[in-house]
Amino acid sequence: MASKQAFWNVPAKDGEPDLWVCMSCLNEAFCRKVPMPACPSCQGVSTYEAFTLAAVQDWGTEELIAKAVAAQRDEATHSAAAAATPPMESVQ
Ligand SMILES: [Zn+2]
Repeated sequence: MASKQAFWNVPAKDGEPDLWVCMSCLNEAFCRKVPMPACPSCQGVSTYEAFTLAAVQDWGTEELIAKAVAAQRDEATHSAAAAATPPMESVQ
């Protein structure tokens, strides 16, 4: 059985927060996408709300902040790679 996490892509609008944090477990953060069908940590559905990194840094735990920073960095890397090469899903 595949355990690969699936995501909904959530395009960010100008000026709107693009970090999605699970408000149920406060233990997961993703950038411009939310896990589907449920939160991988607490299995919560529709528990994600959008925040800016500054907001997460204001009230998040160190672990959550680290995940948020990593998520934004991954998103930036992914966006740059997508712009440079044709869309292609890596098989792992
Ligand atoms: Zn959760």
